[in-house]
Amino acid sequence: QSKEQGRNTYSFFTKQMNEMILRRLEIEEQLYGALERNEFEVYYQPKINLKDRKVMGAEALLRWHNPLVGQVAPDEFIPIAEHTGLIEPIGKYVLAQALAFLNEWSQAHRQDYTMAVNLSPRQFRDQGFVEFVKECLGSCDVTPERLEFEITEGVLMIGQSCVDEVLSALNALGVKLSMDDFGTGYSSLSYLRQYNFDLLKVDRSFVSGITANQEDRDLVTATIAMAHSLHLDVVAEGVETGEQLKLLNELGCDVAQGYYFSKPIPALEMKAFKLKERFEVEC
Ligand code: C2E
Ligand code: MG
Ligand code: MG
Ligand code: MG
Repeated sequence: QSKEQGRNTYSFFTKQMNEMILRRLEIEEQLYGALERNEFEVYYQPKINLKDRKVMGAEALLRWHNPLVGQVAPDEFIPIAEHTGLIEPIGKYVLAQALAFLNEWSQAHRQDYTMAVNLSPRQFRDQGFVEFVKECLGSCDVTPERLEFEITEGVLMIGQSCVDEVLSALNALGVKLSMDDFGTGYSSLSYLRQYNFDLLKVDRSFVSGITANQEDRDLVTATIAMAHSLHLDVVAEGVETGEQLKLLNELGCDVAQGYYFSKPIPALEMKAFKLKERFEVEC
């Protein structure tokens, strides 16, 4: 009987593994033509400046709608795009869309909003990337300091020789660098010393713990103090409740972003987005 069970377990695992592999292959196959078929859409999530309580800009977050594989989350398709090298053209698409939108949105509201765009490791190997950034800024009439690139420590950890070069070229261009998901990695601190970052994003996993968990609160307090002493602005990601927001504000956090204000939304909705009145009242 146990032999029988063993066999079943075995076939159960292979069936699951097969399905996983097939889905991955299907995603990969579909990803190849996705740009040409216009299946991507850039969504935007507002960032709120806690000092003046106004929308200061947005983060661009990619969405993919494909009829065969359905909705696939970025956490699932970005690594595949990265692995296949497709992230190079896809990343350029995101940047071009995001900057064009930034220009449109800023003109409509007569505000100099900022735009944050995520970068993944492979994009650093793209020889023409920095030149492309320059061209996009020019054609969209956006000054460099209004563009932020969000980089996780994964980018820096790979030890690609091109990373130093690209980061200093971006620095020289005047665009801002933001350390994404701070606190989740092993050596983010040493990278902060090594590279010229302007902003630090406290990872959502810490933000979600701050109201209930003293340790998370202590960590965020220390992170904010450390960041400020290095002249970095602190962005809290994944703010979902008024209590979290109130506490982050008291701790001196500069910028907040999260479902409390808005989920990532399409360009048209972002253009019409207004902060809830109660935010003005609450904190
Ligand atoms: P990230 O850059 O850390 O982005 C934050 C993620 O948290 C986003 O997930 C966002 O929708 C989600 N989020 C924001 N506020 C809240 C909140 O209050 N609660 C919760 N539960 N979640 C919140 P998303 O859009 O699924 O993206 C996941 C990751 O995929 C991003 O993490 C980023 O690393 C990557 N990604 C997304 N778009 C791009 C892109 O255009 N290029 C690259 N290279 N990576 C991208
Ligand atoms: Mg990000
Ligand atoms: Mg993040
Ligand atoms: Mg994160």
